[in-house]
Amino acid sequence: MPEFKDFEGQSAHLTRLRREFSDGTYAHAYLFAGPKGTGKRSVARLLAMSALCEGGGEKPCGACGPCRRVMADTHPDVHTVQPEKGKRDISVGVMRDTLDEVGVHAFEDGAKIFIIPDADRMNQQAQNSLLKTLEEPPDNTVFILTTARMAALLPTVRSRLRLVRFHALDYPAAARRLEALGMQPEKAAAAARLSQGCVGRALELGDETMEGRRALSAQLFGVHRASGIPAVTDAYKDDKTDREQLLYDVEGIVRDVLAAQAGGLELEETLFAAEARAYASRVPVEGGLKLMRAVQTARRMLTSHVTFTAVLETILLEVAEEYRQWPW
Ligand SMILES: [Zn+2]
Repeated sequence: MPEFKDFEGQSAHLTRLRREFSDGTYAHAYLFAGPKGTGKRSVARLLAMSALCEGGGEKPCGACGPCRRVMADTHPDVHTVQPEKGKRDISVGVMRDTLDEVGVHAFEDGAKIFIIPDADRMNQQAQNSLLKTLEEPPDNTVFILTTARMAALLPTVRSRLRLVRFHALDYPAAARRLEALGMQPEKAAAAARLSQGCVGRALELGDETMEGRRALSAQLFGVHRASGIPAVTDAYKDDKTDREQLLYDVEGIVRDVLAAQAGGLELEETLFAAEARAYASRVPVEGGLKLMRAVQTARRMLTSHVTFTAVLETILLEVAEEYRQWPW
């Protein structure tokens, strides 16, 4: 079972949260905000256990009935709000069903806990219906919303939540944590970097992902002139990787290349193709910064229904432009 100490350094408020949930002085609603894989959901579950634990010592004990029921997702007073099967958004219908449960008395005589992972999936109507409950919170009920995209929540909803930020670890700290969790040192170092210090994401990485990263960096920085762009965009036309994830990976690569240009990072061969290392040694840091802005523009384009080919072109054009400006 994960423990609070597994998340040290990922939020400054862990100790306080743990105390609030252990002694029942929790707020009505929290927003755990931070990048994917920084422990938001795991901590929410540990806090639910702390609030409901019947063990005598430090909470959660992990062994009593309530603790075990929370771990097995069978505790009747812990509700995890998910979209309907096959849907991406949390609809107003799902939210109304959830809120109907708020009025029902707790089964086990303790707190009722509603966890809404990726709460940004709530559509506007769903958020508005939650808002009414947040405005008149019932006793002994606590909401924990998690999100990696805080801006997608309505300001009126955000203002009703106590914000708790979660952070990625720096690479060495993430690698040490991964090693402590049983990963081989070499893989831990690579995974820490590839996940940008988000331990939860690092744990999910397979060897293909590592190879994919190398291939992506080769394609990205292999474009030396605009005429080379269609070959790359065509290669990704039918690629099944989640677009958002792909751009997130591109951003990670560019960030590391930028750090290398600034002299703060050695690009290790296991994760970066020769093309990326060549770009970093040839193009100065201003070029890397422009490229990073192009990536951010591309991410905005992705949310406004532009074709993925056009999104990718924005980035590749910038790479080609920098190569043109800095010939050998
Ligand atoms: Zn317990």
